[in-house]
Amino acid sequence: NNFVIAIDGFSSCGKSTVAKALAKKLNFVFVDSGAMYRAVTLYFIQNNVDMNDDAQVAAAIADIHIDFIPNSQQTQILLNGEDISDAIRTMEVSSLVSEVSALKQVRTAMVAQQQKLGAKRNIVMDGRDIGTTVFPQADLKIFMTADPYIRAERRFAELAAKGEQLTMEEVKENLAHRDHIDSTREESPLRQAEDAVVLDNSQLTQEQQLDFVLDLYQQ
Ligand code: C5P
Repeated sequence: NNFVIAIDGFSSCGKSTVAKALAKKLNFVFVDSGAMYRAVTLYFIQNNVDMNDDAQVAAAIADIHIDFIPNSQQTQILLNGEDISDAIRTMEVSSLVSEVSALKQVRTAMVAQQQKLGAKRNIVMDGRDIGTTVFPQADLKIFMTADPYIRAERRFAELAAKGEQLTMEEVKENLAHRDHIDSTREESPLRQAEDAVVLDNSQLTQEQQLDFVLDLYQQ
C-alpha cells in the first residue's frame, strides 16, 4: 500500500521546507496544497472573479486545471498550462488566498484533487487540513508550529530576497490575518489532528527537523 505523510500547521512555519526535504530523502512525491489554493486565487485575480457570486466561482473552478511538474530543482506548478510558480508567491495573492480558500466550492474541488494525487503514490503533502480532512487516515501526521516572531522574520527575508518591498509589520499582519481566517472558517478549518505529532521548529535547524520526522517515519 502507499504511504501518506501529512504536514499541517500555521502560515510560514517551514512546512514545505521540511516536506520537500523529506520527499527527496524518501523518494516520495511532494505536493504543496497551499500552492493549489494560491493558483486558484491567482486565477480569481486575473479573471476578476467575484468571490461572492456562486455561479462565477463554479465557472472558474470548472475552468481551472492545476498540474505539478517535478523538476530536478523544484516542482513547477502550472495553471492551465502556464508556469505560475513565482506568480503565486506575491503579497497580492497572499492577502487574498485565505478568503478564496474558505469558499466551500473551492475546498471541495481542491480536496478532491489532492485525494486523487495521493491515492496511489507515496506522498508528502503539506497544508492546513491534510491530516484532518484530506487524508484522515494518513500514516504519519505532523503539526508544525514556530514562534510568531521567528515565522514573520523568515517570511520577511524570503519576500525581501524576491524584491518585495514590505515592512515586518505588514508581513506579521498577513500571517496573523491568514491564521485567523484559516482557523475560524467553517469548511475544514486549520486544526491539529488528534493523532498528529507536534514539531515546534523555532530553535531547530532544517537538518534537525528532517531527522525528527525521519525518526518518526522509521518507528
Ligand atoms: O501553505 P501556504 O501558506 O502557501 O498556503 C496559502 C493559503 O492557502 C493558506 O493561508 C490557507 O488560506 C490556504 N490553504 C488552505 N488549506 C490548505 C493549504 C493552504 O486553506 N490545505
